[in-house]
Amino acid sequence: MHPADETPCANEPRGERRVKGAPERVHYCRKGHRMNHVCPSGKYVCYVCNRRRQRLKYEAVRQQRLKDRRRRIAARRRPSRTERIWAAGHFEGEGTFSIARRGHPSGPVPIVSLTSTDKCMVDVFHAHWPGYMQAVQPNNPRARLQYTWTLLNHDRIEGFILDTRPYLKSARMRAKARLLLEDVRARAELRRTPKERAEKAERHLKMRALNRRGVPAPGEVDSGRG
Ligand SMILES: [Zn+2]
Repeated sequence: MHPADETPCANEPRGERRVKGAPERVHYCRKGHRMNHVCPSGKYVCYVCNRRRQRLKYEAVRQQRLKDRRRRIAARRRPSRTERIWAAGHFEGEGTFSIARRGHPSGPVPIVSLTSTDKCMVDVFHAHWPGYMQAVQPNNPRARLQYTWTLLNHDRIEGFILDTRPYLKSARMRAKARLLLEDVRARAELRRTPKERAEKAERHLKMRALNRRGVPAPGEVDSGRG
């Protein structure tokens, strides 16, 4: 609860009253807040009550958006179990979960991507979890074209993780999936408090550490080193 919401002047009489020795009338709102602000129209406004009303309105919109999002994700088209298992296995070898900067002015964003020189492989992912497809010629002109499938939409990212996570094998990949899921869900909450921002930055660093080669993920056997 915001401290301003606890009626600080609850003991004061309601309505208007004249204070002894005061040069002009002091106005109180229905909740008993002292009103010092006058609209251009000459009416007194209670900033405390106004702010509270706006907060409640914003919260209702936020809850509705969260509900719509949950419904959208639950209603997604899911590939068959076999397809999901195949995708998880292939993604574990070739795919990447990351939280990267990618030129976004607002900071790092969650990304799911997979690169392959075999277009068929990338096509399967793009067909089941539609995102962006790109063909890139590597610096070496004799190298083969590389096809990349990328998911940037947070709902699609959550759908992909929910579909494939049960079949991921390595502790590192599972940790990354968990972290990315946490990230897209936290972003959907639309809270912009300093605490949320700090947690976001922390997830970014954690993901970077997990994506760094040669460092074992927490709980992972020390076999991936070197
Ligand atoms: Zn008020």
